[in-house]
Amino acid sequence: MDALVLKGVRDFVIQTVAVPQPDADEVICKVDTTFICGTDPHIINGDFPGFWPKGYPFVPGHEWSGTVVQAGAKASQLGWKEGDRVCGISHCGCGYCAMCLKGRYNECLNYGHEERGHRQYGHYTPGAYAQYMRTSVKSIYKIPDAMSLEYAACVDPLSIALYTVKRSRMQPGDDILILGTGPQGLMAILIAKALGAGRILAAGSGARLKKAEELGAVPINYKDGDVVQKVKDLTNGLGTPAVLECAGTADSIRQACLAAAKGGVVSVIGIPHEEPSLPMKRIVLDEIEIVGNRANPNTAQATIDLLVNKRVDITPLMTHRFPLKEFGTALDVFEKRKDGAIKVATKPNGMNLT
Ligand SMILES: [Zn+2]
Ligand SMILES: [Zn+2]
Repeated sequence: MDALVLKGVRDFVIQTVAVPQPDADEVICKVDTTFICGTDPHIINGDFPGFWPKGYPFVPGHEWSGTVVQAGAKASQLGWKEGDRVCGISHCGCGYCAMCLKGRYNECLNYGHEERGHRQYGHYTPGAYAQYMRTSVKSIYKIPDAMSLEYAACVDPLSIALYTVKRSRMQPGDDILILGTGPQGLMAILIAKALGAGRILAAGSGARLKKAEELGAVPINYKDGDVVQKVKDLTNGLGTPAVLECAGTADSIRQACLAAAKGGVVSVIGIPHEEPSLPMKRIVLDEIEIVGNRANPNTAQATIDLLVNKRVDITPLMTHRFPLKEFGTALDVFEKRKDGAIKVATKPNGMNLT
């Protein structure tokens, strides 16, 4: 099969490799679509040496959908069969540790230990930039016939947005501030709207801020001065009860803590390169809560339901599609945000919509 093989830092080729075989609790899927995630360029550029990936050669890719073509013995007993249409998530907990038993498999105590059953597809376990994907049944979800597989490949990032909004404890009618209008920030706008947000304030710049406005957010341009003051001006000086930090800069995390209302929650998805200096006096005295979020534990099924019931429409964010063979071009379009690129699809098995 064709696969995108990373051979080193920023060194990749499309190459013929063996089609994988499933273990008992695994299936092999024919991949329909794999979207480029914001993490992928970091993995490709070697920003997490020895961790994501642990070594080379490596096949990345984790925002994917496809059709089951082969099921292992245990997977069959559990009801998985050839022809099942599925989408995947990256995390696969060991299933046995204390965190997995609490349902918090994204924080598995056996993280990184494949011999103990842990996987993280496309990060250190081989992923979905390939014609076939080997995956544990713990990391796939069935999708209804009514949903196209290309659409379903967005479930992974969209379910991260759902987790981030839920963890902010935003209540129906609450104003919410979203810092950052990259793909995750834009998806968080869609989810916040579906969950009954009051006003959605979005801070960003350029074409992506324009997109945020088109999706229904009140735009705040980073370049027009003090974001925190702008938020205060729009909220009678109070700030917003829920803040999502989707920009991943030290400045933005600090702004999030300052723009939250008293008793507010700052739900963080971005990982900054530099440690932020936090306004601790404010955080303590105004009882600001800061919540970190890792991936999408137990939110993929609800995301599928939101999509299939048309509470969320991801179409405006699906901007580009390329054959996997043209991955270099696809990555360039994604990284340089060419032609309004937001979610860029790659198609390992042909360009038809299925
Ligand atoms: Zn991702
Ligand atoms: Zn575990």
